[in-house]
Amino acid sequence: MKRRDVLQVSAATVVLGLLDCSGSGPPDGGGTNTCTTSGIKSGVIDDPAHSFTAPAADVAAGVTKNYSIKGTQLHDHTITLTAGHFAQLKNGTTVSVMSTVTNAHQHTVQVVCA
Ligand SMILES: [Zn+2]
Repeated sequence: MKRRDVLQVSAATVVLGLLDCSGSGPPDGGGTNTCTTSGIKSGVIDDPAHSFTAPAADVAAGVTKNYSIKGTQLHDHTITLTAGHFAQLKNGTTVSVMSTVTNAHQHTVQVVCA
């Protein structure tokens, strides 16, 4: 009997633990997130030497703008972020854009909140 009681307590603890986890969902800022406070940066690029960052002011302005993704690479590419991209970033959506072609190649650049 004693052993069975222990098992029942354990099961109850596991269920409570699962319920606790479900309480924390992703924050829905309604247009306010780290993109609007800290700006944006490059996420995954197939060449990790390339990178870029942009200030929160650019996200707030939401105007189409070109960015260099040179980073520590020896050559440079440019990406263009549009008003639509900035709107997606404000809503917490990750944006992927193609860079310009340099040295006969280009990159898919992921843009995330900084
Ligand atoms: Zn490149």
